[in-house]
Amino acid sequence: MPEIVAVLAEIADQMARESERGRVASYIPQLARVDPKKFGIAVVTAEGAVHVAGDAEEPFSIQSISKVFTLTLALGRVGDTLWRRVGREPSGNAFNSIAQLERENGVPRNPFINAGAIVVTDVVLSGHPPKEALGDIVQFMRFLAGNEEIVVDKAVAQSETATGYRNVALANYMKAFGNIENPPEMTLGVYFHQCAIAMSCRDLAHAGRFLAEDGHHPATRRRVVSRERARRINALMLMCGHYDGSGDFAFKVGIPGKSGVGGGILGIVPGEASICVWSPGLNATGNSHLGSLALERLTKAMGWSVFGA
Ligand code: GLU
Repeated sequence: MPEIVAVLAEIADQMARESERGRVASYIPQLARVDPKKFGIAVVTAEGAVHVAGDAEEPFSIQSISKVFTLTLALGRVGDTLWRRVGREPSGNAFNSIAQLERENGVPRNPFINAGAIVVTDVVLSGHPPKEALGDIVQFMRFLAGNEEIVVDKAVAQSETATGYRNVALANYMKAFGNIENPPEMTLGVYFHQCAIAMSCRDLAHAGRFLAEDGHHPATRRRVVSRERARRINALMLMCGHYDGSGDFAFKVGIPGKSGVGGGILGIVPGEASICVWSPGLNATGNSHLGSLALERLTKAMGWSVFGA
């Protein structure tokens, strides 16, 4: 196996020289202010070695990567009954599609498209005041990442609250089908804030370790989820983690992954490593352009695709 330090340095160097960097998301105005030149990558191996390159220590807006962690919390609260309210199939549609919801009676295709993630957040919220539910989510991220400094970027949360009309529509639409328990504005409040959590590549790579380690989180010496649940969350990430680009990501990168419109991608190599890459420019399916390319080169160099070296 090649030396990972050299592989990461080479990838970071190649990414710095790429002129086609994708387009920074602008539908959340605050995200449009991020410098498209940023690129960071962090890998935590099964042995606990941490390797970073580029802007790996700089916090960015985790956006939809948060959905992996709220799913973990929601499954902890209600177990498999969650699947009565959310499906487990790839959507084949854009991340914020409304059309599919109508055809499928307000039950979102999977927990990683926006509609599905809003239902998942609704589960985490039920029985708690919104502040407490959000506090639980932030605490969970701090615990997993081993970083008490992790906070919500208030400016990003406000920016999305002010402009998130599509998500408001999705939540209200699902409420009409009885698939949202709480007042939609409360569920959305928590959802917008969880998406606005700011973390670095290093933080997220640490946070994802339980998915690479059969549900066990080595740094905290805690079992976060059962082995079976970790395997299933990874399966969902592989099939649904990149919206309508999930097939292409599996084809080129070959590992479970979850992207966010902030330009981050969390990648899991079961038994081997937890990876986070960040580059703000997105491709046509709303996934980090250079992040996907960097992961493709990394998994190829290390023989890490789950489909074979
Ligand atoms: N907060 C974003 C939204 O709901 C998340 C989308 C994403 O990261 O893909 O639109």
